[in-house]
Amino acid sequence: MESPTQQSVAVLGATGSIGASTLDVLARHPRRFKVTVLAANTSVDQMIGLCQLHNPRYAHMADSDSAERLAEALAHTDTQVMTGSDELCSLVQSAEVDVVMAAIVGAAGLLSTLAAANAGKKLLLANKESLVMAGALLMDAAERSGAAILPIDSEHNAIFQCLASDDRAVPNLEGVRSIILTASGGPFRLWEADAIQRATPAQAIAHPNWSMGAKISVDSASLMNKGLELIEASWLFRMPASQIEVVVHPQSIVHSMVRYDDGSVLAQLGNPDMRTPIAYGLAWPERIDAGVKPLDFLSMGTLEFESADTTRFPCLRLAREAAAAGGTASAIINAANEVAVEAFLAQRIEFGNIPKIVENTLASVVNREPESIDVVLEQDRLARQFASVDVERMRKGL
Ligand code: NAD
Ligand code: MG
Repeated sequence: MESPTQQSVAVLGATGSIGASTLDVLARHPRRFKVTVLAANTSVDQMIGLCQLHNPRYAHMADSDSAERLAEALAHTDTQVMTGSDELCSLVQSAEVDVVMAAIVGAAGLLSTLAAANAGKKLLLANKESLVMAGALLMDAAERSGAAILPIDSEHNAIFQCLASDDRAVPNLEGVRSIILTASGGPFRLWEADAIQRATPAQAIAHPNWSMGAKISVDSASLMNKGLELIEASWLFRMPASQIEVVVHPQSIVHSMVRYDDGSVLAQLGNPDMRTPIAYGLAWPERIDAGVKPLDFLSMGTLEFESADTTRFPCLRLAREAAAAGGTASAIINAANEVAVEAFLAQRIEFGNIPKIVENTLASVVNREPESIDVVLEQDRLARQFASVDVERMRKGL
């Protein structure tokens, strides 16, 4: 039976891949959930369709011209259109919202994610970049306000499912020896180093198992995604990155594992479909239908496991170095990576230059203690500035 109290959900990044999967799960449970806020950046036509379908109280567009066009299109509806970063944070914090799906891509999602944590909302965290940039601030905010953080990244959701946790979703690490993140290895898993260096955006985006946004697809191909996830896991589960193992598992059926002191290893399995972790986060601590195909063990074939190669995929090594360095090193590599990925997608640099730009930026921007959000944002700005210059230098072949 559906729960009698309906929860109001804000879907940030509504027009993206996670946004679409979230709205799909929500639409399966109209008595349990209602969509109150939809937020996106520039995709006006897509937002018009989503607003007609879900009839949210508020629609937010980060881009102000897009907001104007959306407002015109929705003039005769009940949906109020807004723009501005402060306005998005106010929406997230309003009493009209119970649950926030943080699924904006990249550093652009940081402030709204932090706002949800500060306001004690149930925070469904897909935007891993916010934990990578400001893990201490975000975790402290949730602890102070009582916000429950439900990891949506499939690996972290799997680990969370394999751990005991309290009624505020704080995991219990007693008896845990290590956590094991699985990685698909991405589309270049079997490629030679020089072919990887020259890979095209179309090749990088063609992920073997998951269908995702462009940025995270490129990150999966470079293994930076696993690096960011390592840092994300160390914050979520309060564990040093050195205690977090990474193992390549090309089938993406075992979503991650927890190794206990007594020799037990618990794993969470499922088809690679983000609606599973999203439904788990939405309904936690209950379970609801996600529309996901049941896992068929008889047609699954062999599950393989191999080590990750940080020589061909240096981004994973760089993320480990940033995690070990602490301070704002993770924010620095995140910013450099965003700049480099954008330049790669625009065909301004080669794929193999992404780790070089990240490495140069990490070595050049002075690390600081992330004592406030302003420090984090300033470090993000400095790293972007350095990485942009590095992109130009590489374009000129210097
Ligand atoms: P996507 O590119 O498909 O969608 C991104 C969304 O963010 C869009 O709705 C876009 O409008 C919005 N957006 C972009 N820039 C914005 C800005 N400046 N202000 C406001 N909104 C903005 O990305 P995605 O694949 O859905 O990923 C979203 C987040 O979830 C990322 O942080 C990613 O790492 C994480 N994640 C995604 C998956 C997946 O399967 N797609 C899995 C795990 C984690
Ligand atoms: Mg993941």
